Amino acid sequence: MLSDTFGRQFHYLRLSLTEACNFRCQYCLPDGYKGPSDDQFLTPAEIRTLLTGFSQLGTSKVRLTGGEPTLRRDFVDILSLTANTPGIERVAMTTHGGRLAKFAHDWKDAGLDQINVSIDSLDPRQFAAITGQDKLKEILLGLDKSIEAGLDVKVNTVLLNDFTDSRLSRFLDWLKHMPVTLRFIELMQTGENTTFFNQQHYRATPIKEQLLNAGWQPVIRRKDAGPAQEFYHPDYAGKVGLIMPYSKDFCSSCNRLRIAANGNLHLCLFSEKGISVRHWLKEGDVEGLKEHLVSCLGSKHATHYLHDGNTGATKHLAMLGG
Ligand code: SAM
Repeated sequence: MLSDTFGRQFHYLRLSLTEACNFRCQYCLPDGYKGPSDDQFLTPAEIRTLLTGFSQLGTSKVRLTGGEPTLRRDFVDILSLTANTPGIERVAMTTHGGRLAKFAHDWKDAGLDQINVSIDSLDPRQFAAITGQDKLKEILLGLDKSIEAGLDVKVNTVLLNDFTDSRLSRFLDWLKHMPVTLRFIELMQTGENTTFFNQQHYRATPIKEQLLNAGWQPVIRRKDAGPAQEFYHPDYAGKVGLIMPYSKDFCSSCNRLRIAANGNLHLCLFSEKGISVRHWLKEGDVEGLKEHLVSCLGSKHATHYLHDGNTGATKHLAMLGG
């Protein structure tokens, strides 16, 4: 099992398939994606070597992310090669959900277990203002299709300063009947969103208090649980999760490593720079890759330095998938 000098074990890999995204979320890519074309990103053969190496070192869960992973033409091939890698027991994906209504069943058949869909508002006009895409209706239809297909569904909502009580109650009313986990994520500062961050950063602490006052109860944490704090309520079909990267101890439960679309290993979402593993991927050298990964883990830090406004080399989360 891959572990670091602080005793943390890493059974969970987040693999970014592309930096490209066709949404323009205000906090991520407000002017749209302007980077390199797909051909610089990892090939299926490189991904096979990567996943074999990681799974032999104990990785059992992989999340496909981006950018928008479903923009890759070979997305389904990559999905099934991930699901068919010996040792990988769970395959998740983070998506804007724009193609879910059409493909949820196909992706489930190809081996997908879980999806996290980003929905920042249940108000269509507000959704369009935040994401640059007027697609809330079809994304909600995609959620229904995903539940019908048997996927485990989570929804990601980034907390912004204008996250009023009325927005919160609309989300909570929705959860009465929607069997999904809604995760409120505190906005994180990145290299390119400092002004937006300073205007919009909103702490999740008041939401936690509101939930507890309304009878929501903390879900008992499994030993290998990640940094999200989860809550359930007997009158609701759905659950709520809070992701509070600025809270004390957030990093102590870190259980994940990240590979960027260009094949760089990131030991933290906000590390200084990625460590290239592409040489071993190009060569198809699983043993060399494993040796290199084990030696890299020694330099993982105890925590990020976001509290000091130090975002490392992360310009925006489309680089790494959050
Ligand atoms: N395209 C996919 C999507 O829309 O979900 C996957 C990539 S996106 C970068 C992954 C997640 O990161 C989304 O839920 C998004 O809302 C979140 N995210 C992006 N930038 C963020 C930031 N600065 N702070 C907090 N969450 C952010």
